[in-house]
Amino acid sequence: MKTGKTMMTAAVCMAAGLLSAQMICAESRIKAGSYVGTGNGRNGEVQVEVTVEEDGTITDIIVGENTETPAIAGNAIDVLPGLMTQNQTLNVDSVAGATLTSAGIKSAVKDALTQAGADVEQYQTPVIYETEEKTIDTDIVIVGAGGSGMSAAIEAANAGASVTVVESNAYPGGATLYSGGMVLYAATPEEAEEYGSLDAAGLQEGMKQYAGEAYNSELALDYLNHTKENIDWLKSLYGKNDLTDSHDPGYVPMTPEDTEVSHTLAITIHPTEENGGLVNSWVADTLYQTAVEAGARFLLNTTADELLTDEAGKVSGIHATDNTGNTYVINAKKVILATGGYGGNYEMLKAHTDMEKPFYLGPTSNKGWGIEAGESVHAKTAHSTLPDIEGYNSMVYGTVGGLIVDKEARVLDENDAPIENLFAAGELTCVQALDVVHFSAGENISWNIYSGRIAGNTAAGEL
Ligand SMILES: Cc1cc2nc3c(=O)[nH]c(=O)nc-3n(C[C@H](O)[C@H](O)[C@H](O)COP(=O)(O)OP(=O)(O)OC[C@H]3O[C@@H](n4cnc5c(N)ncnc54)[C@H](O)[C@@H]3O)c2cc1C
Repeated sequence: MKTGKTMMTAAVCMAAGLLSAQMICAESRIKAGSYVGTGNGRNGEVQVEVTVEEDGTITDIIVGENTETPAIAGNAIDVLPGLMTQNQTLNVDSVAGATLTSAGIKSAVKDALTQAGADVEQYQTPVIYETEEKTIDTDIVIVGAGGSGMSAAIEAANAGASVTVVESNAYPGGATLYSGGMVLYAATPEEAEEYGSLDAAGLQEGMKQYAGEAYNSELALDYLNHTKENIDWLKSLYGKNDLTDSHDPGYVPMTPEDTEVSHTLAITIHPTEENGGLVNSWVADTLYQTAVEAGARFLLNTTADELLTDEAGKVSGIHATDNTGNTYVINAKKVILATGGYGGNYEMLKAHTDMEKPFYLGPTSNKGWGIEAGESVHAKTAHSTLPDIEGYNSMVYGTVGGLIVDKEARVLDENDAPIENLFAAGELTCVQALDVVHFSAGENISWNIYSGRIAGNTAAGEL
């Protein structure tokens, strides 16, 4: 570590816009040099190296060792150091979807500056972003970079269309990042016999019960008749065929009576060394890379807020706003709404479900905007009714395991969540890993504790 003589932090005081800078800053004395600070990110400690001059100017911030999940935290690691250095402030917006990593980076920088002898209160000038209104003309605009949006982007771009994808979060993936990796698969007659699995007709029955009034036989059959093709397509993107365990019957209750044993052949994409142990981020990353290579343009940190229509009332594009206030008019021949569900919208959850305590494990950015936007232009929408399957009646979506506690660390009991199922799935005997799960009911936050036993089978495996 380099040292040097100390002097007043003039640059910092100026950055803070203080008129009587010398009076206040006389106490802040800084030893120039590079300092390693630490903070707590999402998965653990984040280290940064901050280089600071004698006058308090931050000249460099490098994020060092950390265990953050690249697909989620990458943008915070890429963007925040530059923003803080450029603006000489710790007061930068957290990167959407990576708030815990952002907080970790900021507190690590704070720690380093404190070691240097700086008064961190002087680095609090808010960043004023200059905003622009931009217009983009594209063949197809897709709202939402989850599995659906990115698959659509790949196919459209490969078919020669210009494609723009708008995504609220700083990273692609949506709920697809949380997925356990089980894929509903219609068994061939031979597979049905060998594994006791459902064929297309059997699955169709189950889908009818799940979908309720939203059931659309044409769509259901289209899905069921193409399951193998779709799995093969996904595998072909990665270029390897050994990532899926093709005949792994899993727990996928498809009828109200079917709560214990699945008769559905589920294809599970297992965590392996090749996919980095994280099934879901492997799928999301693969789709993202493929879409980018196919020529799709992604606007991350950008939220669609209005559907645009022409004089005849036909949808002609979208309006969107990014996290620094830039606005976009995106004119398009086609608009694809792939915004996922509405678990991140407590009002919609209350309005559209019978659940007394809606419980949601998924990205908070899924606020049902696509549904509301569709309705705003008189699109017909349909609502599926979840059957009263034990364990599913108080959750929007269950996960394969884990113990769910509220923010006071109280275990949510069977009145709140199907704890028995969670225990049954994972035999929670030894708690080895913690995963923060976005829980958007009101202001609450829940924690999902995964057992080491089940870690190898779930997205938490990496933790
Ligand atoms: C914990 C968990 C486990 C799961 N396990 C499985 C499983 O094993 N098998 C299975 O088949 N399914 C599983 N699922 C369900 C599956 O993950 C989802 O059905 C699927 O990922 C939905 O994909 P999607 O592209 O439609 O939506 P998403 O992946 O949710 O993508 C929607 C995207 O739209 C973005 N967005 C929303 N509004 C806007 C806006 N206004 N502007 C810009 N962007 C916006 C969101 O940020 C999000 O990234 C699981 C889900 C969860 C939560």
